[in-house]
Amino acid sequence: MSGTYPRIGVLGIQGDYAAHAVALAEADAEPVDVRKPEDLEGLDGLILPGGESTTMLRFLDRHGLFEVLKEFCASRPVFGTCAGTILLAKEVRNPTQRSLGVLNAVVERNAYGRQIDSSILTAPTTLPGGPMEMVFIRAPRIVEIGEGVETLAMREGFPVLVHEGNILAATFHPELSQDRRVHRFFVEIVNRFRRKDAESKRD
Ligand code: GLN
Repeated sequence: MSGTYPRIGVLGIQGDYAAHAVALAEADAEPVDVRKPEDLEGLDGLILPGGESTTMLRFLDRHGLFEVLKEFCASRPVFGTCAGTILLAKEVRNPTQRSLGVLNAVVERNAYGRQIDSSILTAPTTLPGGPMEMVFIRAPRIVEIGEGVETLAMREGFPVLVHEGNILAATFHPELSQDRRVHRFFVEIVNRFRRKDAESKRD
């Protein structure tokens, strides 16, 4: 593997993809804007940002991205935040909705009710460095996780940050806080994947 930074795409449909690009640069990765299928070529990983998952689905259909993304997410590292996590989940409720179906979890949309639908709190995480600030915006709730899914942080007894193989998913927005631990953790997943990929090509 070369010593260069990994190239990580950020799906640039709506929402705060620019904040993700800044966070990636701070976590030693090169962000790449993704808006059409060709943009995925040669990427080492991908971030699906927050936004409105229904709007994002419509965009994916219109730009021929749904199927190619499904393939990408099943074979390369991907990190979803909020609506991005909704897109990754195997099952979506409230209401039922189509998804890329790669994360072994059931997600309920807009699950925190109207009054507390957006909030900032500090909660423990298993990532080294102590409790973490978490920004929730009309957040979904991960109501079930399946085999192979590791919980890295919880809120009120439900996972808010989970990891399954090459997939990382948060129901909050780490790109909106100063703390870069979550993006760094994803960049580590991507670098590990790159090393393995390079090794398998050498063998
Ligand atoms: N409420 C949005 C949805 O259901 C997600 C919100 C977000 O990404 N901040 O798709």
